[in-house]
Amino acid sequence: MHSQQIVEFGGPLVAHDYPTPEPTGTEVLVRVHGCGVCHSDLHIWDGYFDLGGGNKVMVIDRGMKIPFTLGHEIVGEVAALGPEAEGATVGDKRIVYPWVGCGECAICARGDDNLCVTQRFLGTRVDGGYSDHVVVPHPRYLVDYEGVDDDIAGTYACSGLTAYASLKKVASLGADDNVVMIGAGGVGLSAVHLAPSVIEAGVIVADTDAAKRQAALAAGAWHAIDSTAEDAVKTVRTELTKGGAGAVIDFVGSPATAQFGLDVLRNGGTLVIVGLYGGQLPLSLVLLPFRSLRIMGSFVGSLPDLRALMALVKERGVPPIPYETRPLSDASQALVDLKAGRVTGRVVLRP
Ligand SMILES: [Zn+2]
Ligand SMILES: [Zn+2]
Repeated sequence: MHSQQIVEFGGPLVAHDYPTPEPTGTEVLVRVHGCGVCHSDLHIWDGYFDLGGGNKVMVIDRGMKIPFTLGHEIVGEVAALGPEAEGATVGDKRIVYPWVGCGECAICARGDDNLCVTQRFLGTRVDGGYSDHVVVPHPRYLVDYEGVDDDIAGTYACSGLTAYASLKKVASLGADDNVVMIGAGGVGLSAVHLAPSVIEAGVIVADTDAAKRQAALAAGAWHAIDSTAEDAVKTVRTELTKGGAGAVIDFVGSPATAQFGLDVLRNGGTLVIVGLYGGQLPLSLVLLPFRSLRIMGSFVGSLPDLRALMALVKERGVPPIPYETRPLSDASQALVDLKAGRVTGRVVLRP
């Protein structure tokens, strides 16, 4: 097994070779076809998430060990099965659902592994897909992707799933309402593509980058604005909506974007924080009841969500986000390019 691994936080990944694992129990060995390079990989590569106020959560304190293999947007082919792995066949082409929980609690029984307190997330807690093979704990985490291109399929397990699950949280809004989506990067652009299939409300995109605003318009947003423009809040509240948006999905999650989100909500509106940029927000508590606002988070999505998403993609042919493939040996450079903002859509690493 050949893997590109973190040996030092923030330093170049290092190629390591190991004996190819033999799956035990219910485990499945998947031969990796491709693995997306995701923005959250950058945080793990850095070694921490910023909680704001000078506080950080170190990934090493959450049970991750180095050398470590990143990569949670994995697509591949079943290469071997443990003796108790039922429901998969060698040769099956599958997306790997990476947000694996304990597999035994009531939360996991519902398929909400992503909310389990015992996280075994592939590529963030246990070794992931920057490798030619990955071990998956159970066949139930393998999802069919018939009708989708092999190279891009893995990205649905993170950017697509995250976008889909966040849209579901605002799906009760009617056609006369609006959702402002902040940030038209990989996840935001996926949400714009998926929106007509999941929500009725109109989509307004806010991004500081003109090229990304253009990409959002091409993907179907009815309006795109620069949230840092002086009159941006007023434009949304008075010109684009009647008194504010019914919901904001913040795919950046910085203090500035979350504040913008609160400012453009109508009374009774919902702010959904998705992005992991980090930081803190001073919050006027009295405004929550006065304006009947709701603030919530959305973290990736459930296993049933991923199955529903793939059925939707197959049925309605949601266009994939722009992507490029690169050899696995380019993993370090791909992280550097993503960090520098030089990537539109996704880089998919091919072993
Ligand atoms: Zn991701
Ligand atoms: Zn669990």
